[in-house]
Amino acid sequence: MSARDYLRRDLLDWENYQVQPVQGRKMDANESPFTLPEKVRRELADWILAQEDFNIYPDTDNTVLRQAIADYYGFGLDWITAGVGSDQLIDLLAKAFLEPGDRILVQSPSFSMYQTTAEINHGTAVSVPLLPEEDFRFSADTIIQALQEQQPKLLFICSPNNPTGCGIPKEDLIRILEAAHCVVILDEAYGEFSGADSLDLIRQWPDLISLRTFSKAYGLAGLRVGYALAHPDMIRAIDTVRAPYNLNTFSQIAAARVLGRPEYKERIQWIVSERERMQQALAPLEGTCGFHLFPSQSNFLFMRSEVEGLGAKLLERGLLVRAYGGAMASYIRVSISEQEANDAFIQAMKEIIQA
Ligand code: PMP
Repeated sequence: MSARDYLRRDLLDWENYQVQPVQGRKMDANESPFTLPEKVRRELADWILAQEDFNIYPDTDNTVLRQAIADYYGFGLDWITAGVGSDQLIDLLAKAFLEPGDRILVQSPSFSMYQTTAEINHGTAVSVPLLPEEDFRFSADTIIQALQEQQPKLLFICSPNNPTGCGIPKEDLIRILEAAHCVVILDEAYGEFSGADSLDLIRQWPDLISLRTFSKAYGLAGLRVGYALAHPDMIRAIDTVRAPYNLNTFSQIAAARVLGRPEYKERIQWIVSERERMQQALAPLEGTCGFHLFPSQSNFLFMRSEVEGLGAKLLERGLLVRAYGGAMASYIRVSISEQEANDAFIQAMKEIIQA
């Protein structure tokens, strides 16, 4: 018998989430251009030197981190659970809620982990198209109709959406919440860049879960910390399937230290102003070779062009962006990075599109 003989039948042709190899300037994964502030790194170095308990399992309740999050938002501790990135929380949601054959409702295009994770957990993903001719705006009417027709267990709304950059207007979200008879997951991985505030909705709607992460605005992608904010009953349901000691001690402490520090406000503002600078610099290309830049409320830009192999052409110039295949082959997504990389991207795009 080989490993393949033992593998779950439904995974024989399974294609897992693909991460592309790192090469060139990394502008493909919406990471922050800023690492941990030096002051925090020194504090953490002191903490490591004073720490004698690396031989002991971490706090299984992630209390220090959850308390920092609770204080920051003014929520009770029981409204929060933490995960190894919000990826782990997406997995826990699927594990906790999906039974074989249950459906999840997602947008298309959106973050593919929702579908991947649902399918690994014996669920099925049904997607509702965003409106490409209207800059991939969310269509609350289509979502509500699909909720009625598909009766999903989970509805994922990514706002601002990865990869298209658009956010869902609050009034649309409220209409959807009023119509939904399922768990509504609002993925706010990029929420800090849009300024949208869902805290009042989380307090009001017990079926709503907000997923957030330290990987983007807080630049801690390497430490893998995400969290969910929701009614305590919902948090208890997620924790039903959370493995003990899921977050390591160092990640818990580091994330707790950065939350709400003033320098992050400045960093977020810098990224937003850099986004606007790039939008302005790319605007003259609009219409040439079918180029179109979509509005973005996030830390990345999403664009379309008729240039074949645009991603590969950028890589030849040392710039790694997110390129897509199939029906999305004419689109790319680029992360707002260091100024020098952003300038190199603008220059490369001018050369390629105007060639
Ligand atoms: N949600 C969205 C929309 C994302 O783009 C990402 C990262 N690409 C995640 C969740 C997962 O982030 P993490 O696991 O690093 O918290």
